[in-house]
Amino acid sequence: MTILVLIEHYQGGVADGSLELLTLARTLGGPVTALVLAGSMADVATLAAGLDADTVLAVAAPAVARYASSVYLRSLNAAIAACDPELVLLSYSTAGIDLAAGASVATGREMVAYVTSLTRHGAGFAACSQVYGGKLLATSTLPAQGIAVVMPGAVKAGPRSTGDAPVQTLTVDLGPDGCIRHLETLVPESGGIDLTKAARIVCVGRALGNTDKLPMAEALAKLLGAEIAGSRPVIDAGWLPKPRQIGKSGTKVKPKLYLMAGVSGAPEHLEGMGESELIIALNSDPRAPIFGKAHYGAVCDMFEVMPTLIQKLS
Ligand SMILES: Cc1cc2nc3c(=O)[nH]c(=O)nc-3n(C[C@H](O)[C@H](O)[C@H](O)COP(=O)(O)OP(=O)(O)OC[C@H]3O[C@@H](n4cnc5c(N)ncnc54)[C@H](O)[C@@H]3O)c2cc1C
Repeated sequence: MTILVLIEHYQGGVADGSLELLTLARTLGGPVTALVLAGSMADVATLAAGLDADTVLAVAAPAVARYASSVYLRSLNAAIAACDPELVLLSYSTAGIDLAAGASVATGREMVAYVTSLTRHGAGFAACSQVYGGKLLATSTLPAQGIAVVMPGAVKAGPRSTGDAPVQTLTVDLGPDGCIRHLETLVPESGGIDLTKAARIVCVGRALGNTDKLPMAEALAKLLGAEIAGSRPVIDAGWLPKPRQIGKSGTKVKPKLYLMAGVSGAPEHLEGMGESELIIALNSDPRAPIFGKAHYGAVCDMFEVMPTLIQKLS
């Protein structure tokens, strides 16, 4: 029996989360099938190149060129019926959240979400999941033939495969377009800011209080050759523009250095920066969750430490 992984893609590239799922499937052992939905077989071939799977199951039709819930759900259900996988892996993404419950109901397979780790357990699996917004972790058993929705960054994606897996086409009755259709892609205004390319980021949190001390953080960022960014409350308050928000509903980054000042480390923030190479946290609360994630941390008043750092770096 195989493990079925839904491959998500955007603007011609496979989503990081899908590559992570393939790696996770490999750690569980057994054959892996990658489900690729694309507008044409040529697009399937491009997306399937280098995927670490034993088989690629392809649905090629203009209706599935971009994500649309009804046609994707029909395709996923058809793929489950076709290969009867022992496990279905979906990313905790807009599409994954959208599809998982529908597939669970349609196929009668049990489903577990917010998964941060997954191992074999008897004939099935044991899943560790975030609950209460990540404040607690819960372990549950998932019987064989279950569906798991896995958090981004739960595993580090392995290298791309040098060979290409054989492609099998799957013919699916996609039915009517349904009430949800893709009309157009609206790319948010970036204002020329692309934090995904920044090697260093200084991120300020709600503790900033207002914009009075923002120049201090900006001066520190400048000396470090870093971009300035903020947690969601900072953006919601209008202290920094939206393209500078890091997190679940902001930008996801993996810089070499992520220096954060006055950010608590909520799961929604960690989702955007947890893969950073070096995380340094300044926080006045020794129990702040970020100290469970940061490589280095200082329990301090950021408004005392930042001027010292500026002085030293100057
Ligand atoms: C669906 C959804 C999506 C979300 N998306 C995002 C997202 O994309 N990005 C995001 O960031 N959040 C997001 N959030 C919000 C998230 O849950 C948190 O509320 C938010 O990250 C908290 O921001 P913060 O750490 O700046 O503020 P707080 O949680 O208020 O933390 C402030 C921290 O500053 C510390 N502090 C106070 N004074 C000082 C001082 N003088 N010196 C040093 N430290 C000090 C405190 O100890 C505290 O830890 C989302 C939430 C939901 C529900």
